[in-house]
Amino acid sequence: MNGYCRLCKQEKELVESHIIPNFVYRWLKESSVTGHFRFGETINRRVQDGTKAYLLCGDCEQLFGAWENTFAKEIFVPLHEGGATKVYGPWLLKFSVSISWRILTYFKECLDLNHFSEDLLRSVDNALNVWQEFLLGKRLHPDKCEQHILPFRGFISDRSDPDLPSNFNRYVSRSVDIDAACSKTHAYVYAKMCRILLVGFIEMSHRERWRDTKIHVKKGTLEKQHYRIPMVIRDFMYYKAQRLQEIQRTMSGRQWNKVGQDYRKNLNKFQNSEMFNAITQDFILFGEDAFDD
Ligand SMILES: [Zn+2]
Repeated sequence: MNGYCRLCKQEKELVESHIIPNFVYRWLKESSVTGHFRFGETINRRVQDGTKAYLLCGDCEQLFGAWENTFAKEIFVPLHEGGATKVYGPWLLKFSVSISWRILTYFKECLDLNHFSEDLLRSVDNALNVWQEFLLGKRLHPDKCEQHILPFRGFISDRSDPDLPSNFNRYVSRSVDIDAACSKTHAYVYAKMCRILLVGFIEMSHRERWRDTKIHVKKGTLEKQHYRIPMVIRDFMYYKAQRLQEIQRTMSGRQWNKVGQDYRKNLNKFQNSEMFNAITQDFILFGEDAFDD
């Protein structure tokens, strides 16, 4: 398929590429009990692959691929296997910007940004330009369109927060979720890839609340045990976890039977899986309420 590459802006042959990189889906599949997973909006269909779009030419796809491989090897896999992540290099900011750029491009071109005001739509165009220039090496840093990373280790075992959704441990450890979110004064790209959350700012307010999580241009570490999460992100994650529950409630009886059969066939695998641990933690916190989905 020939077309116009959204990154290098040249007329070339386009390749179909993942919005969220394939290694995330590969890990989900390998660590799943059934070898399948389901997406929110197509919950009645089992799928084995993530969302794809024709946005990039082969050269730009390769550029992204190099950063993806390093991110998978140095951060994603160690974090999900309970190991330590090392010092990161300039590749982390490139990778994170590439994720924010492709999600925002996908929302703008294939979905919609109807919830954005005129002012924020201008900020979207600005962010896309800044990120494109940074990805192509035409600028040294993404300026005010900062990138932030939150790694989630372990499980939440404290139920002192009355607003905590009853599927939260499952949402944190195993969901893949993308969005372009905004309020009146700020807007960001939300990329939740299992235990990693990337936030790319289109328009930022209250910069002082975002001290712990900023991805630096040259290097940094992800070794902090406790990150301060701004309330706006915590609330948004709660909302997304609840939304997932609502969608799961709409899954048909026939589909639930299929899930049940798959799990019974793989009982040993299930009992040793991270999904089982996440369900157990949600059950310890919420009892039967953990299963209202
Ligand atoms: Zn290109």
